[in-house]
Amino acid sequence: MHREWRAVVETVTSHYDEIRQRPIAPTVSPAEIREHLRTRYADFAEPVPLEVLVNDVAAMLGRWTLHVTHPRYFGLFNPSVRPASVMADTLVAAFNPQLAVWAHAPAACEIERLALGFLASRLGFEPGICAAAFTTGGSEANFTAVVAALTRAFPRYGRQGLTGTGARPTVYLSEESHHSFHKIAHATGIGRDALRIVPVDEHLRLSCSALANQITEDEAAGLHPLMVVATAGTTAAGIIDPLRETAAICGEHGLWFHVDAAWGGSAMLSPALAPHLAGIEGADSVTWDAHKWLSVPVGAGMIFCRHRAPLAQAFGVDASYVPRGAADTEDAYVTTMQWSRRFIGLKLFMALAELGAEGYGAMIDRQVAMGRRLRAALEAAGWTILNQTPLPVVCFTHRRLESGDLTPAEVATRVSAGQDGWISAVLLPGRRPALRACITSFRTDEADVARLVDGLGRALGSD
Ligand SMILES: *Cc1c(COP(=O)(O)O)cnc(C)c1O
Repeated sequence: MHREWRAVVETVTSHYDEIRQRPIAPTVSPAEIREHLRTRYADFAEPVPLEVLVNDVAAMLGRWTLHVTHPRYFGLFNPSVRPASVMADTLVAAFNPQLAVWAHAPAACEIERLALGFLASRLGFEPGICAAAFTTGGSEANFTAVVAALTRAFPRYGRQGLTGTGARPTVYLSEESHHSFHKIAHATGIGRDALRIVPVDEHLRLSCSALANQITEDEAAGLHPLMVVATAGTTAAGIIDPLRETAAICGEHGLWFHVDAAWGGSAMLSPALAPHLAGIEGADSVTWDAHKWLSVPVGAGMIFCRHRAPLAQAFGVDASYVPRGAADTEDAYVTTMQWSRRFIGLKLFMALAELGAEGYGAMIDRQVAMGRRLRAALEAAGWTILNQTPLPVVCFTHRRLESGDLTPAEVATRVSAGQDGWISAVLLPGRRPALRACITSFRTDEADVARLVDGLGRALGSD
């Protein structure tokens, strides 16, 4: 199969050589793709030679993908991926280790343990004390945190469900926090109404006075405040909620303190940025995605949890057919939601090992520098910046947008059509329409930033 493998390697390496020249966003209809698939693969009637197949799939992905690994993709938190992490995913697929039990995958389990322990120490968690696991993403990590908090607060929750607890638990989070919590509230049975959406202050941060008031009010009304979610790096505007103040309120009322740092957690690898997340070390649990700012392919999230017991209670089972682990090891199928478990951590381990911790910090810092450059260039070109954050995401508007001449979506479409960059439209609190540009690629350079700003000017037209 050497020829076929060479086709794969050729595809991957030439993709990165050519990415700057490729259109960022595809223009294709569902009908066009379905017709292509129908003519070649309908009913899988004819076996396709592997080399032909590799080339066809590569061509489809090349033409019909919104290229988040393009250096001018200034979009959502989807990164360019480190080459070491792509190699890692190939090795994982080939060996297909099963990480449900340590005994089936000793090397893989220990590699993950090392990587998670390193990141836990960066969070200020004592590695021996906290539980940590790779997840499919931030949603599963946030889900794990809510289940752990419920399990710790209500001894009956596991056997009798919420009805058995007789309580109405509530979860506090800002209007800018991630919407995965709506699904989680639905699925855990606390219900979507249990989410107390707390307003933000003028800097788009969770308002601690509003939070404290809401908790006190809910306590008086006979509800059971359970957990506060602070976000470190909100999805829309990259805002870091006041972590220390939130921790203090949680301490006062006996609430679980969760930090959703899916994107922003990676700031902990930069000595310059880490102080902005001070207070994260006091969290009961932290969500941190490797497939966001740690630049590895989806799906790779992580949950760090200070409490082992609720995880063991929530996810523990007694399955007689599963082999027992060795002493001083843990079997992930009894401490996490997943059963069969992919070797998610290798892509992070290999990327980290190749660059080194300092190299990773420098990669983060460079993206922050590009963000600062973008902010300054937009201001110089007459745009108004709407968010203040040390993280590289910029929300901005222009008097032409505010006057209703043009919508942010129209500007974003024009910028994308000119290949000047892919950016998104966003609604900030108060339903204020804005444009949003985030540095997501370690390959984004000064020329890419300049081209985006020029393209934005062209998209506005003359006034
Ligand atoms: C992306 C994100 C999530 C959801 O994580 P997935 O990995 O997409 O499941 C949750 N919270 C925040 C702040 C995020 O940025």
